[in-house]
Amino acid sequence: MNHYRGRFAPTPSGPLHFGSLVAALASFLDARRVGGQWRLRIEDIDPPRCPPGAAETILRQLEAFGLEWDGSTHWQHERGAAYQAALDTLVDRGLAYPCSCSRKQWRDHPIYPGWCREGLREPGKPAAWRLRSDLGLRPVVWHDRLFGEQHVDPATLGDVILRRKDDLWAYQLAVVVDDADQGITDVVRGFDLLDNTPWQRQLQHGLGLPEPRYLHLPLIMGGDGQKLSKQNLAPPLPLDDDAVRPLLHRALVALDQRPPAELATAPVAEQLARAITAWDVGRIHPRPGRSATAASH
Ligand code: GLU
Repeated sequence: MNHYRGRFAPTPSGPLHFGSLVAALASFLDARRVGGQWRLRIEDIDPPRCPPGAAETILRQLEAFGLEWDGSTHWQHERGAAYQAALDTLVDRGLAYPCSCSRKQWRDHPIYPGWCREGLREPGKPAAWRLRSDLGLRPVVWHDRLFGEQHVDPATLGDVILRRKDDLWAYQLAVVVDDADQGITDVVRGFDLLDNTPWQRQLQHGLGLPEPRYLHLPLIMGGDGQKLSKQNLAPPLPLDDDAVRPLLHRALVALDQRPPAELATAPVAEQLARAITAWDVGRIHPRPGRSATAASH
């Protein structure tokens, strides 16, 4: 029995675009190549950032591209109790603390200087919860399947927020708790999230959770040289099959998988079947980003 379990974990702040397709596809192919499972998690912990209907659009887009996930969809908005339990454990272990400081107060410092570590500076004010990045696993050393050995001291990144002053859960804590609860063995995601891995490794260590394998992927850049995103108005993925087929081919090209040109307009199932058999991480050229236009050739 194969224990590989991957996941795609979009934030439903808008529909998926070409950059998200590349990440989802790589994670899917990596799981299916070894007969593993592929899970879907909707990271909707920040409701003001998630317009109504965006999550449902994402599900339809994944289906249109043939990216079928195993099991039921996991929704982060239902997971408050699990995140609270994890935060309680960290507090008990002296690894998390409340902080009432505002960004304005420490604006002359490159990272939050940890003023509340030994006690709230201004008790009675609303407080966020932060991770003590100066304790626990340090430095964090991990192996990225594409970028090789990584060596980062999380204290140089600062005490990341785990729960915000407005009581919303932060990505770092939620992702670590959910990856563990969903039994994720393999994280495949964009290079922009590489910098988050040291905090996530520290949290896994602090909570006694297993360490998944990591594969960060070159980002797809828009014409402005920035990562494709909703902010730079990357077009949403289409749902109609005529547009889906060539775009799936482009995504395989962007992952350096060299799909046969004659399959560029083949049915999605046929393109995916071939891509699963041919999936080879070793072909992906390790670089932080590549342009979306280059990806079409
Ligand atoms: N929700 C994150 C995003 O959409 C991805 C989280 C992850 O893959 O760890 O950028």
